[in-house]
Amino acid sequence: MTFPKRPPFKKPAPLRAACHGVVLACALLAGNAMAQKPHQGALDAATQYKDESIKMLERMVNIDSGSASIEGLDKVREMTVAELRKLGARIETFPADPHPGTNVVATLTGQGKKKILILAHMDTVFKEGTAAAKPFYIKDGRAYGPGVMDDKGGVIAGLYALKILQQIGFKDYGQITFLLDTNEEVGSVGTTALIERIAKQHDVALNLEPGRAADGLVVEHKGSATALVEVKGLAAHAGVAPEAGRNAAMEVAHQVLQLSKTADPVKKTTVNFTVLTANGPTNVIPASASAKGDVRAATPEEFDRVEKDLIRIAQNKLIPETEVRVRLVRGLPPMPRSPASDKLVRMAEGIYAEIGKKLTIESSGGAADASLVAGVGVPVLDGFGIVGGGIHTPEEYAEVESVVPRLYLLSRMLMDLSAN
Ligand SMILES: [Zn+2]
Repeated sequence: MTFPKRPPFKKPAPLRAACHGVVLACALLAGNAMAQKPHQGALDAATQYKDESIKMLERMVNIDSGSASIEGLDKVREMTVAELRKLGARIETFPADPHPGTNVVATLTGQGKKKILILAHMDTVFKEGTAAAKPFYIKDGRAYGPGVMDDKGGVIAGLYALKILQQIGFKDYGQITFLLDTNEEVGSVGTTALIERIAKQHDVALNLEPGRAADGLVVEHKGSATALVEVKGLAAHAGVAPEAGRNAAMEVAHQVLQLSKTADPVKKTTVNFTVLTANGPTNVIPASASAKGDVRAATPEEFDRVEKDLIRIAQNKLIPETEVRVRLVRGLPPMPRSPASDKLVRMAEGIYAEIGKKLTIESSGGAADASLVAGVGVPVLDGFGIVGGGIHTPEEYAEVESVVPRLYLLSRMLMDLSAN
């Protein structure tokens, strides 16, 4: 996933002064007549934790924890677990088999009923040595370093939101579970089953992937699938007797052109054939060829529709005597927008308005752990980490002035979800 560059993040207005005792002015400021006063205890705690949380972010960023950097991942995990233990969390670890890392499930038990899951990942896309070559630094209000927003900012957001709840003595949740994935950047192969199993035990989930550059949450992730086309033809000498052959390469070319039309721009379903194979010497009509296509769709029904259309359209062959097989292999499920996620969006918008801020609500073509949660039917919203941009690039950054608002947002979400 890449995000477009955005103008610099605006520093939040001095809201506590502006809002103190002047609810109407505060509401107008937020452009929301229903805006409530901020929860002063949570806002004070978020403000107080700003420097400490950035220091912890610095420590974490300066440890390389690429998906294959087991030593670094262990260090990040130990650091995180130590903080969670201080909060009184029960810690369980699960090997990310067949991946070499270790996942963490931390559980806090409260006095209420609601079971809330938060998720973040400890691994980054950056290779060993990146942190030493380009350690954490802050310039013009932006913090830089490998994984600073994706997703160490998310790990920090989760830890400090829980610290805020502890500080203000909030225990109205039934259970808050913090799941830390160790291999998200390589498709969560070793965490998929764990996420699905744990998610099912919860009423609602928040994924702590980075807040999008325009201060966004993600309400919708497309699902992913792969279209596979296999063609069998007949080999022949390309110079001596080409008419005796059945050219599988020609047929696969014809197929990818017509099968690409299963895309639907209105429904934002994309079908892109990206891999074509037909090997052999140039003087032989190829007897076999194949193609793979990347398929993205916003709903499970769209995948069903694409699958049916692929099979139907593939029957129209360029070379009748070839054999054509088409399949759709489903990957991560879609996280579609739903009444339940819209309710979470309204809750988040209301909370952000309390501090005079506005969220953007975004869709993403990329899949995430939140998709696995949505796949088992649990309401989920994504993008609750620290705001940033340049994801997966050497210029990846986190907005320093987004730390306090985002800690406030996440801690208040946990509070309101406990009540509703
Ligand atoms: Zn991520």
